[in-house]
Amino acid sequence: MNATVRALLDWFPSARRDLPWREVCSPWRTLVSELMLQQTRVAVVTPRFESFLERFPDPATMARKPEAEVLAQWSGLGYYRRARNLHAAAKMIVARHGGEVPDERTALCALPGIGEYTAGAILSIAFGKPEPVVDGNVERVIARRFCIVENVKRGAARKRVRELARAAVEAGPPGEVNQALMELGALVCTPKSPKCGDCPLAADCRARADGTQETLPALPARKAPEAVTLAVALAGRDGRVLLVRHPEGGLLCGTWGPPFATVLPGEDGRGVVERSARNRGLRIAVGELIGTVRHQITHRKITANCFAAEIEGDLPSGEARLLPPGEFDTVGLSSLAAKALRHVLPT
Ligand code: SF4
Repeated sequence: MNATVRALLDWFPSARRDLPWREVCSPWRTLVSELMLQQTRVAVVTPRFESFLERFPDPATMARKPEAEVLAQWSGLGYYRRARNLHAAAKMIVARHGGEVPDERTALCALPGIGEYTAGAILSIAFGKPEPVVDGNVERVIARRFCIVENVKRGAARKRVRELARAAVEAGPPGEVNQALMELGALVCTPKSPKCGDCPLAADCRARADGTQETLPALPARKAPEAVTLAVALAGRDGRVLLVRHPEGGLLCGTWGPPFATVLPGEDGRGVVERSARNRGLRIAVGELIGTVRHQITHRKITANCFAAEIEGDLPSGEARLLPPGEFDTVGLSSLAAKALRHVLPT
């Protein structure tokens, strides 16, 4: 393991990407970056990171702000549950830890949205503790380097990957080792067509020697995403568009967008979205189909049929607003809503 870690550390300084959360490292910046990166690509997070941190430079600042402001700033990053967790974590850091991100695993894992992986990343990168971080990239590099042929998500193979990851962080500066492993998986030891010719581990890589690098790691078969059809009602007045906050517990909960409802096979989408809106105190008349948008989130493949609609009567206070397109970014618009609005509104 020492030779592997030495090769990784020799390679990392010149190969690493210049990412904003690496330029200035602090526990809060690491925590925010890790939450943002949980389900969103580096290319999407990078241009948003500094402006978000300028707005919320520390847990105390975020804890003082309303959740809606955090959600609005999160707009475009998707998966808004993470933003709500971040806001709740900031409050807890202030209440329990005097405003300082804790440097201990149990305390970190007690924060909303922080699991074993994110805790390991914060502890190793921000506090230099020898904690392994095993994401898909690290799993792949280790499975190939050590030729682990069993399913790495289960049983003995899973345990072996974690043992090797732990041995690696105990053999060098933990934050650097973890980031080098992740970077190698992201840039060189990629899922398809790994660039073994550019790899610092090539000389000792067992999968490369066996010619099995394209087939490892063994992963369980993926479940096909569930197909979901939505009816979306696009209503407006005087150049403003009706947006609602989607209720807790449902699809896109906590985000904002035009009213929508899930349509089952055989149902009329217009009637379904009208009834769903009425149940929330919103009277709309839904008319013709004006466009269809396709979108995938987690395990759902969504077909959103967008209908023209008219508002009848007053809006319920609080969770429904009429906003001009220039103010959409003042609320936490879901990625699906942003896509649907871009698709149907004149540019
Ligand atoms: S030599 Fe190839 S398969 Fe082995 S770790 Fe490097 S990139 Fe991955």
